[in-house]
Amino acid sequence: MGSALRTAVLIVSDTAAADASTDKSGSILKATFAEDGAGKWDEPTVEIVPDDIAHIQRTVRSWTDTYGDAYMNLVVTTGGTGFAKKDWTPEAIEPLLHRKAPGLVHAMLRTSFEVTPFAMMSRPVAGVRNKTVILTLPGSPKGAKENLQAVLKLLPHACMQAAGEDSRTAHVGGVKKLEQDAGLGSDVPKADDSHNHDHHHHHHHHGGHGGHKVPKAHTSPAERPQSNDLRLGATARARSSPYPMLSVADAVAAVLARTPAAIAENLPMSPSLTGAVVAEDIKALEAVPAYRASIVDGYAVRIPEPSSSLKGTFPVASVSHAQASSMPPPLEAKTIARITTGAPLPENANAVVMVEDTTIASATADGIEEATVTILTSDLEAGENIREPGSDIPKDSLILRKGTRISAIGGEIGLLAAGGITSVPVYRRPRVGVMSTGDEVTDISDTSAPLSGGQIRDSNRPSLLSLIRGWNLCSEVVDLGIARDTPADALETALRDALRSSDVDVIITTGGVSMGELDLLKPTVERKLGGEVVFGRVSMKPGKPTTFASVPFKESKDGARAERLLFGLPGNPASAIVTANLFLLPCLQKMNGLEGNGLEVVPVSVSDKIKCDPARVEYHRVVVSVDHQSGKLIARSTGMQRSSRVGSLANANALLELPQKQGFLQPGERCNALMMGHL
Ligand code: AMP
Ligand code: MG
Repeated sequence: MGSALRTAVLIVSDTAAADASTDKSGSILKATFAEDGAGKWDEPTVEIVPDDIAHIQRTVRSWTDTYGDAYMNLVVTTGGTGFAKKDWTPEAIEPLLHRKAPGLVHAMLRTSFEVTPFAMMSRPVAGVRNKTVILTLPGSPKGAKENLQAVLKLLPHACMQAAGEDSRTAHVGGVKKLEQDAGLGSDVPKADDSHNHDHHHHHHHHGGHGGHKVPKAHTSPAERPQSNDLRLGATARARSSPYPMLSVADAVAAVLARTPAAIAENLPMSPSLTGAVVAEDIKALEAVPAYRASIVDGYAVRIPEPSSSLKGTFPVASVSHAQASSMPPPLEAKTIARITTGAPLPENANAVVMVEDTTIASATADGIEEATVTILTSDLEAGENIREPGSDIPKDSLILRKGTRISAIGGEIGLLAAGGITSVPVYRRPRVGVMSTGDEVTDISDTSAPLSGGQIRDSNRPSLLSLIRGWNLCSEVVDLGIARDTPADALETALRDALRSSDVDVIITTGGVSMGELDLLKPTVERKLGGEVVFGRVSMKPGKPTTFASVPFKESKDGARAERLLFGLPGNPASAIVTANLFLLPCLQKMNGLEGNGLEVVPVSVSDKIKCDPARVEYHRVVVSVDHQSGKLIARSTGMQRSSRVGSLANANALLELPQKQGFLQPGERCNALMMGHL
């Protein structure tokens, strides 16, 4: 057996965090792994954090929520398991555990009781997160060592099972051999015999992890922001946001950095591809037209060489309609054939004379059809009014380049259809879900009673659904309903459900990101869902509390984990729409294989005097239109810009990007406008 199990020791102590030299547990636990670990453990990685839930969780997650197989097999914490005011380690660890291990807790407590009745004052937890076994040891070096020794012999087996090792094939010998191998004495509880078939001898190398370096975060936990502890009252909450304020450009860059690259797929050709981006150069599979076709209604003729006047009267030998059934018969000399626009030319014909340049000379016996027709013009040239095969679209010619967006104008869809493309390589369009949050928020369909108390209509969800659907960047925009603020786990449950059942790539919430006690989004993401708040504040108006996070998500039962992006947009309606345009749009663009440049920027002149904000860039809602006198684009304000006023967006088609400065933009002054809609 190789010394391949990777382990980490987390010292939880304010004192040791301030001065690492005061820590004694780290070295003692290292020695315990080395001396009592039967050579099965790599030298532990040791980190020290203060008695703080967020610090503890972030550090542990850096060891358990890794990409690929860089995870630790075992994480032990020491400290913070007692009843003192600062003891929060079990509270930090417990929510991280996907599966609990009361047996390990029992074994540790039993050992401690043999030493001291103060074991009653220890509150250990243990279990498994992803593929890592986690347990909390007491803080005293002696207690930590004794507790670790109590379980150390069985831990290799636990760790390998947690890591998904198929012990049935990897080991032979059964539980007896396992116990023997682990050096277990008779006083140690036996493994349940009913699990015999699952417990076998260890003699393998652990998945090639030996000596594997674990990726380290580049910031120390203390450098990272933290959300409010959901359990603490108003007095304990931060009174200003602990999240650093990002510029809009930095926030967009952070969004794009987290957004996964576009994935190509083939979809059946259909008008529902509108909005998708072509993932490969596309060549025409068929020529257009596929045959020599008439451009006009008239008569196909045969001009003898060299070009000579056709003026005169000719018998009408056949009729060629623009229809699929058959080709017309070849044209005999000195005869003509009636032909409709788009119909195939008879063989031997080399021009078409327009019906306007002819008269009927005689009718058939029944009087219904023309028998002979007189051609009035002598100017007709060979090739006139004919579309040669492939003259519109040559077969195998490039019709759409990789990166082309299939527009709603219809040109790209038309080319694909005409070119005979049945399966179109495009970038996969994400599924997104939109959720409102708040106890006061009332669904528009809830008309059972007039609004009462502090109730408000949910305007964000319908307007965001409409906005995002209009972008044509998503395969589906799912309505995730309203998540309540109470009970305390309502938001967590709603987000978990959304991750699990709705299969969305991106979740958009509104509300719950300000500084109030019901602003649960950041704490729920960080403390309940094990997610990471990438940013929690942006220097802009409106939209300052805009939050962007990534949330780990278990894709399947066997533990394959993925990341989902979460945009926590502010609850105020104008803020929600503005920030969706600024941050969500580039993300969806990138997932669609576009640059992620967001809204198109055009220079405009302002028609009114507009006040600027010296502290923040402001996105002032305007109507941009063409001034027909000057031919210039002018921007007119939609009026009062308070962030709660969704009406500032009604009729608006652009956001004026007001420079951050003291004073005003004067009428006629130039400014950039971000175009949300058409002129
Ligand atoms: P919050 O960030 O949850 O405190 O919300 C900020 C403001 O936005 C409050 O006035 C909320 O009532 C309002 N708000 C939150 N959600 C919505 C919504 N879905 N529709 C309209 N207004 C909302
Ligand atoms: Mg709220």
